[in-house]
Amino acid sequence: MDSCIFCRIVRGEIPSSKVYEDEDVFAFLDIGPLAWGHVLVVPKKHVEEVAAMSPAEVSTLFAAVPKLAAAVMKATGAEGLNVLVNNGAVAGQAVAHLHVHLIPRRTGDGLGYRWNAKEYPEGELAAWHRRIIDAMK
Ligand code: 5GP
Ligand code: ZN
Repeated sequence: MDSCIFCRIVRGEIPSSKVYEDEDVFAFLDIGPLAWGHVLVVPKKHVEEVAAMSPAEVSTLFAAVPKLAAAVMKATGAEGLNVLVNNGAVAGQAVAHLHVHLIPRRTGDGLGYRWNAKEYPEGELAAWHRRIIDAMK
């Protein structure tokens, strides 16, 4: 896609700090990191959201993640990583080219998000279970 920032990075039209590339995948440092060494992993082919990807495209993208995750952990000395996809603007996706965040985490780093867990009212868990199964038909 012509104007997409991440397509332009993949094509080399916008400079990036590339850490990995193969035929289908490109990974580079996030320019606005939540922690030092924060990496973005993107499919080279423009796609906006996960539901628009084929299983093979998802497999190919995530095949690059273990090696990159291990490298980020090693390089940063992080104790853990958030492996995160913000999918859709309402979910925090600012760049409409799907990307996987690898965010190094340390105890007390102050990162995190509000995890406002709820409890299903009586009967609601079964109803949602059924709705989602039906939606996959
Ligand atoms: P999102 O909110 O869409 O999940 O995350 C987009 C990420 O892309 C942000 O963390 C932001 O810092 C990063 N980003 C946006 N523009 C650029 C850019 O031109 N170069 C790099 N390396 N990262 C970018
Ligand atoms: Zn794109």
